[in-house]
Amino acid sequence: MTTSNEPISNNSRPKTFSSADIIQRILNSAREAVLIVDHGMRVAASNPVAYRAFGRGNGPLEERRLSEVIRDAKLHESFRNTFESGQPSEIKIELIGNDRRNYDIHIAPLELESQKYAIGFFYDVTKIERLERVRQEFLSNISHELRTPLTSIIAFVETLEDGAIDDKENNRRFLGVIHRNAERMHSLIADILELSLIESGNISIEKGHVRLAHLVGEIFASLSSKAAEREIKLIHEISDDVRVLADPGRLEQMLTNLIDNAIKFNRPEGTVEVVHMTSERASLISVADTGEGIPSENLPRVFERFYRLDRGRTREIGGTGLGLAIVKHLARLHGGEVSVESELGSGTTFTIELPLS
Ligand code: ADP
Repeated sequence: MTTSNEPISNNSRPKTFSSADIIQRILNSAREAVLIVDHGMRVAASNPVAYRAFGRGNGPLEERRLSEVIRDAKLHESFRNTFESGQPSEIKIELIGNDRRNYDIHIAPLELESQKYAIGFFYDVTKIERLERVRQEFLSNISHELRTPLTSIIAFVETLEDGAIDDKENNRRFLGVIHRNAERMHSLIADILELSLIESGNISIEKGHVRLAHLVGEIFASLSSKAAEREIKLIHEISDDVRVLADPGRLEQMLTNLIDNAIKFNRPEGTVEVVHMTSERASLISVADTGEGIPSENLPRVFERFYRLDRGRTREIGGTGLGLAIVKHLARLHGGEVSVESELGSGTTFTIELPLS
């Protein structure tokens, strides 16, 4: 509040704006698309977001019919209802243009210079609805994946209870099945927890100069018996002086996942080769196998959570379908990426790209 009697200088006097000016400025700074519609159901004013969303490059939205700008009968009816009742209304619509977009729309009556209008705020909820779908899918996948081994455990426990415990020929075998399924649930839960930790961003990546040949040698040693079972040769010719900028534990986790897959999905007596290359901006580490390969139409999906080409078979060999999703997230947390190339019948190559600086 001003207490002095001094006249307020021209410079400090608050500027006045016309109401049309204020409205246009507010509309222009809004994050949501906004349309003001007149009684004849034509657009009286709009903002740049609305133009980008609904303009389709046909010039300004003003003066065009609402039904021509957005072809949706329900929306038209909602604006009309607001005019007739003088009450706000809410509506959800899905628009299919170049892509599919979902909007929650709030429509309210508006009086400007004694003229009646209706103003619609278009909240773009496409991303929220997609995330909600992904979350539901994730939950239903988890439930399904956990139920399968659990059903098997319950069935074998019941069989043992019903007398098989005294069946000397089979009781140990049944216990073995129970044990394997319990382990499967254990690794599934460990992978789910790991993935959610990584996805929530609650892990820190501590980059250092990792001796790649040494790390790959250690991973080969830990997977050697698995490779030997199927007579798969593990090869690398990475020179001792190669260093890559990465978090050592996380790089080990990524490479272990890729090399483990390359063994699992290989043919007997196949090979797995790890190769290092450097491009202008990144270190490239490839894991190439001589397995059956992945059909090109499935390639873009292998990094999705729970995606497996052959559910039955991968479950048998102990896959959770989460390994590659973990690799993708870890590569991105390094500022890098992971990619895949595959040729049916001859093999698959996964490549991790890590920025040099
Ligand atoms: P999983 O635990 O099943 O191995 P991943 O996320 O690691 O889960 O892999 C997802 C799916 O991608 C696998 O089930 C398999 O179908 C396919 N896949 C992964 N690596 C390879 C590979 N080297 N060769 C062929 N298919 C592969």
